[in-house]
Amino acid sequence: MNNTGPEPTFALPTVASPARLYDVYLGGKNNYPVDRDLAAQIEAEVPEIKPMARANRRFLGSTVDHMARQGVDQFLDIGSGLPAQNPVHEVARHHHPGARVVYVDYDATVRVHAEALLAEEPDITGVVQADMRDPETIFAHPELVDRLDLERPVGLLLVAMLHFLTDDENPAGLLQRYLDHLPTGSYVTISHVESDTAPDRAAALEHFYESATSALRARSHAEIARFFDGLEMVDPPGLAHIGTWRSRLTPMTDDETPIPAEQAWGLGGLARLTS
Ligand code: SAM
Repeated sequence: MNNTGPEPTFALPTVASPARLYDVYLGGKNNYPVDRDLAAQIEAEVPEIKPMARANRRFLGSTVDHMARQGVDQFLDIGSGLPAQNPVHEVARHHHPGARVVYVDYDATVRVHAEALLAEEPDITGVVQADMRDPETIFAHPELVDRLDLERPVGLLLVAMLHFLTDDENPAGLLQRYLDHLPTGSYVTISHVESDTAPDRAAALEHFYESATSALRARSHAEIARFFDGLEMVDPPGLAHIGTWRSRLTPMTDDETPIPAEQAWGLGGLARLTS
């Protein structure tokens, strides 16, 4: 990869990171004792954490599948995380073998893993180490400029991301700054930890993430729904729990079972830009 971003600066393995915690929940191996310790404390108080992560990954795969079936063949995955099931490029390539994907994450470990995984296809996949709070840098980055055609629809993913922003950081305003770069016909997929189903456990999760490198803010259904104002939701299912979200184009297969809201209190939605 011809990544001209900052040299990787690796977070010391003394503080748990969201990417490595998520890797623990998903049964991955790219994590440190500090992550496993915090994940164990979280799971003791929030036993839904692992099904929630699995449901989120499945939600991500379904929305990419839907977008690809609708002809989208280029994707921008913000906060892509460590290698996991259903990576965007694999799902998209079932429909578009040459699908282009740019993966963005602020974590240097994620960047190094992504670069290693995608080393054989530098023309169609890009990796950017950047902070999601700086979309202008992301859209100007050569890894993106050389791969995504912003005159054609793009699938933007902000999956399990906006809850890493405080209200003061204005997540809706940040989302708009991303959408301003995308043409009509693009899609955005968002999932977010919600606070209505299990308020005590959502508060516990917020508390635990205060000792990680990024804090987490759970939001109500109404607050999450507002992120989709002005966008055309794919409906059904509209804004739905991540363990049950499926569009008409991506129904559950016989081997899949819904994960109920009580076990996965994240909400997700997919929407199309109509103007
Ligand atoms: N989006 C993937 C998914 O849903 O399966 C991974 C989600 S994981 C919970 C959150 C990811 O966001 C981590 O990899 C973390 O490093 C990244 N992240 C958190 N805050 C970020 C920020 N401000 N800018 C860029 N990446 C961030």
